[in-house]
Amino acid sequence: MATTAQPTPRDLHAGLQKIRRRRWFLWLLIIAYLPAMMVALRTPQSGQTVVVVFCIWLILLIIAVALLALVRCPQCGECFHMNGFLFRPVRKCFHCGLHLRADKKKNR
Ligand SMILES: [Zn+2]
Repeated sequence: MATTAQPTPRDLHAGLQKIRRRRWFLWLLIIAYLPAMMVALRTPQSGQTVVVVFCIWLILLIIAVALLALVRCPQCGECFHMNGFLFRPVRKCFHCGLHLRADKKKNR
């Protein structure tokens, strides 16, 4: 197996920033579900609107989960949130244990 070189602090920060942004996108999408449905229910043709809003939300959710599942750890290069077929959006890399805020802890 090839050994991976240690990432520079800049690469580490950029990689972790990318992971944090994708996590925020997923959580905001989950939070936005209820308000979006409430707005859809208040429209004149609420039945159709709810179906359309739900389909759009579901497609965005699939994209957000796929982006989060496939994001690479800046330290080890493995998928940050995946272990085999298991997806868990935890705050540490499954493979090397790198914390999501490791770049911010080093600066203090
Ligand atoms: Zn890792």
